[in-house]
Amino acid sequence: EKQQGVALVIGVTGIVGNCLAEILPLSDTPGGPWKVYGVARRPKPDWSPDSPVEYVQCDVLDREHTLEKISPLKDVTHLFWVVWVNRETEEQNCEDNGRMLSNVLDALLPNAENLQHICLQTGGKHYLGPFDAVARNRDFQPHEPPFHEELPRLPAPNFYYTLEDIVFEAAKKKQGLTWSIHRPTVIFGFSPWSLMNIVGSLCVYAAICKHEGLPFKYPGNIITWEQFMDVSDAELIAEQEIWAATDLYAKNQAFNCANGDVFKWKRLWKIIAEKFDLELLSYEGEGFSLAEVMKDKGPVWDAIVGENKLHPTKIEEVGNWWFADLVLNPPWGTVLSMNKSKEYGFFGFRNTETSMGQWIDKVRSSNIVP
Ligand code: NAD
Repeated sequence: EKQQGVALVIGVTGIVGNCLAEILPLSDTPGGPWKVYGVARRPKPDWSPDSPVEYVQCDVLDREHTLEKISPLKDVTHLFWVVWVNRETEEQNCEDNGRMLSNVLDALLPNAENLQHICLQTGGKHYLGPFDAVARNRDFQPHEPPFHEELPRLPAPNFYYTLEDIVFEAAKKKQGLTWSIHRPTVIFGFSPWSLMNIVGSLCVYAAICKHEGLPFKYPGNIITWEQFMDVSDAELIAEQEIWAATDLYAKNQAFNCANGDVFKWKRLWKIIAEKFDLELLSYEGEGFSLAEVMKDKGPVWDAIVGENKLHPTKIEEVGNWWFADLVLNPPWGTVLSMNKSKEYGFFGFRNTETSMGQWIDKVRSSNIVP
């Protein structure tokens, strides 16, 4: 008899959490049909997928609250960690992100007897170093791309390392508990509540340019305009996580997760311009800061939301300008190797140009941008 998986998704309204919430309950999903608990801090938003997820509102930074809300979920078999909080320094990131994971595991380990697997999502900063190491110290040496999973840890605090260590400890404590670590690069997906949503942010920028009749200038540098890059489709990440959660041979391993193709931002820019009916300008060869250019656009966004009867959002939620600035103006180009993931049997991929178009359509059909 087939055992039904019971998933606990922490960060269910996030960019990958949303996809897990959509895919896990489907009848043909590996390990399914899954029962799904989805945890996020705020009440369930009305843009979240219309799928059978038991929504649990819980701030996992709050230990008492977490023990109270998560301990009763005794049937959980698989934990999906797709959440993070962003603090001023990486030391604080280690502290707070580590605390969140420990809180949840302290609620689960003594109570969820059938807990089998933890999917931990981290990312490319495993190889690049945290944002603040790069910003504070220009001499900080990241690894040489293409990044592969067995590269040693970098000599700087990194909350990804903290989370990994907590997972390793948990696996030692509970017999039969396995784990997998998933390392995407920049994610293309949908969530108005994500801390880092490049597609959503660029849609907001495009909508503002359209509304104000501004030239739709590319804010990135020549590296991203001209060089081959890679990104990670949110649905593909969810598929890899579910694969690792259910495939016998994928246990206790870290896997990169990128689309498996390369692209140039100049091609994606054309797609965005066409979708928003904006003129495609020739590139002037110099990046600029969206954080700077967008800093007074709150009232403009409010007007766009009002005039178009959009789902109410604040520009600070849907325009992650600091992140867009980093993604489009990196000091170097990077690529993740997908060899290990394929060698272990995950053959999923996405066409990045198609992925961009589809996520733009999703942002629109969800009534977040006009
Ligand atoms: P996200 O920011 O899209 O979503 C996080 C979710 O967690 C949201 O639903 C939010 O409401 C919820 N949440 C936040 N604080 C909470 C709390 N205290 N209690 C309960 N819920 C809370 O997440 P993401 O981007 O998928 O990030 C997961 C991991 O992926 C992070 O380590 C991140 O660094 C990494 N990553 C993200 C990207 C990207 O482009 N977004 C790229 C590479 C790696």
